[in-house]
Amino acid sequence: MHNSILILSDDKHDTENLLNLLDQKEGGEFNVECLTKLSSAIVRLKNHGIDAIILDLLLPDSYGIETFDQLFASAPHIPIVILSETDEEAIAKKAVEHGAKAYLSQGHFIGNIVPLTLRNIIQSKKTEANFYQEKERAEIALNSIGDAVICTNLLGQINYLNIAAEKMTGWTKEESNGQPIEKVFKIVNRTTRQPPEHNPVYLALEQDQVKGLRPDTVLLCKDGSEVSIEDSSSPIHNWDGKITGAVVVFHDVTEALSMTMKMAHLAQHDFLTNLPNRVLLNDRVSQAINHSERSNSQFALLFLDLDNFKNINDLLGHAVGDELLKSVAERLIHCVRKCDTVSRQGGDEFLILLAECVSGDDASIAADKILAELNHPHFITDRNLHITCSIGISVYPKDGLDADTLIKSADSAMYLAKEKGDNNYQFCTDEMNRNANQRLTIETNLRFSLDHHELILLYQPKINLKNGEIVGVEALLRSTRRELLNIAPKHLIKVAEDCGLIVPLGRWVIREACFQAKKWLASGTTFGSVAVNVSVIEFHQKNFISDIKATLKDTHLEPCYLELEITESVLMNNVESSRSLLNELKNLGIKLAVDDFGTGYSSLSYLKLFPLNVLKIDQSFVSDITSSSDTNIISAIVSMGKGLKLKVIAEGIETKSHLAFLQALDCEDGQGFLFSPPISANEFAKLSATKIKPWLHLISQVKTPAKVKVSKDHQVKLSV
Ligand code: C2E
Ligand code: MG
Ligand code: MG
Repeated sequence: MHNSILILSDDKHDTENLLNLLDQKEGGEFNVECLTKLSSAIVRLKNHGIDAIILDLLLPDSYGIETFDQLFASAPHIPIVILSETDEEAIAKKAVEHGAKAYLSQGHFIGNIVPLTLRNIIQSKKTEANFYQEKERAEIALNSIGDAVICTNLLGQINYLNIAAEKMTGWTKEESNGQPIEKVFKIVNRTTRQPPEHNPVYLALEQDQVKGLRPDTVLLCKDGSEVSIEDSSSPIHNWDGKITGAVVVFHDVTEALSMTMKMAHLAQHDFLTNLPNRVLLNDRVSQAINHSERSNSQFALLFLDLDNFKNINDLLGHAVGDELLKSVAERLIHCVRKCDTVSRQGGDEFLILLAECVSGDDASIAADKILAELNHPHFITDRNLHITCSIGISVYPKDGLDADTLIKSADSAMYLAKEKGDNNYQFCTDEMNRNANQRLTIETNLRFSLDHHELILLYQPKINLKNGEIVGVEALLRSTRRELLNIAPKHLIKVAEDCGLIVPLGRWVIREACFQAKKWLASGTTFGSVAVNVSVIEFHQKNFISDIKATLKDTHLEPCYLELEITESVLMNNVESSRSLLNELKNLGIKLAVDDFGTGYSSLSYLKLFPLNVLKIDQSFVSDITSSSDTNIISAIVSMGKGLKLKVIAEGIETKSHLAFLQALDCEDGQGFLFSPPISANEFAKLSATKIKPWLHLISQVKTPAKVKVSKDHQVKLSV
């Protein structure tokens, strides 16, 4: 592309010379326009398209430096070269001072000096324009970003602030120019309120390295306000790689910080009462243990449970229950000292750490105060509510050396308090501690059993009481570990439930039972379905159903061969979620039985809510079957089962007399030592294979006990 040159001169001779030099006639690299007056040049420049001007300062309508100034003002971005007579060099130099790019005298009208000069100044103008554009772009970018940016020179004096930095510091670019960084970027530690020992900007300058701010840095703004900030300082280098200053980039983290703090608070506090939760309490107990160890002192832990709180929830609704819990929380806080911790464990349970308890008496005094304080009516939604509580107390180090043990000890003592009647407190006793130790031993051995394949399942057949056929089999867990042989499985299960081990244990049981069922199916062993006991804790585990599905898939067992025995507590706790879980299991094709039926509080209306298949009458009713009340209960359960189209099975049939009564009461199925104790899988396969079952003669021989009379309206009468 050709460069366009404007020659502004009244001197024809000079113009002629310049045209020759610029090779105009031969159509060279320049387009040249010639004008003689400043006024016409100014008009011409309004239309763009001129790349450089050669100017004679002596024009018919203007003279001297003014000529330059006017022309320059009308076209500040077009480079101007002054034509100068040898004796006018001083004025030409002045023009250069005012912004002209160069001057040419007659002496320069030789060779290619003139085109070369023009080429150079046009090129450098283009470079300057590019540079200007880049700078503009950078400036716009810096002002558009949310991060604040401050630049300093080598001495740490400010020479740049972007808009975000102006807003955050409260200083303008102009005010801050030349100020030392620490005056504008005033930072302190949030907690100590001290400025950092070494300002990160000076460190970046000194060490020529990027330096971060400490995370708890606060910026003190010009108007006295404060902002939590985060970020870093970096050295700035010139193109020789030499450090010329520093840049600090930072942003406001106040909101993010308050969100983090909120999250941290939520993680450690109960959402309803805002009291510390279990996590924070455990932490405080650990601190108390450390302190007590150092100072050789003791402290107490109070486990508090509200008496009959469930009634309030059930009768007045959860909203009222929640308000009552809040009111209790407030009272508890007022009953203890600042150094103590009142926490809510969930539900209606509170744990109170009395951090500096000189003696057990201190704990008694606190417990008395709490009992009295809670006893006053709580005014909630226009009514006075009365509530009492039971408190269990454990003392460190006597009742436990760690948080878990101390909580368990206090929990056991709380149960003792409940047993003694509501509204009192009890200390943890030596017996409780012995029990706690025994539980710990059991827990350790159970864990070992699980990890070292020392668990087995025994199987107890379920029999049709009319024809003696095997209708099902119940899988019962045993540990082969010597230390656990003499401990009742029920007790093992209770310990496993308390320590959470029941979840992996239960998973193992279901898997093992499914594998066994699949093996029996393959070998032609008749077993009906295999029943597995499921504790309430397993049942409400997040992955319970997906684990069962995975087990059925892995073992290739059809769901109809699996039955789950749940207790009434599963039905009573969390009715809605239990119902939907049970429906899901039922839809899979799994059978559902209520175990130990009659020991809980299930009512008929409750049972109707759930998709059940079987009711298992608890063995306590069977063992007392000869008493009229238990006979009536069994009879009621049998007819209730019939009404609800549920199978009814009696557990714990030990004697012919039990069998006779149950047959007379029309109970369909049974299970008990009279037929078979729990036996190994192989023994069960053999038993199932024998044509003549050992119990067949018992079933056929049984005669209705003379005592039982069943009237037409199904009323059972027991004659004495
Ligand atoms: P359960 O589910 O009611 O099991 C029946 C219990 O009664 C078994 O006790 C069985 O051995 C016992 N039993 C059977 N026939 C008779 C009898 O004629 N007379 C008497 N007195 N008892 C009889 P076991 O095996 O000691 O289990 C006790 C409890 O432990 C079970 O009661 C069940 O609640 C729990 N349990 C056992 N295995 C598991 C398991 O794998 N998971 C879960 N969650 N609980 C289990
Ligand atoms: Mg059972
Ligand atoms: Mg049972």
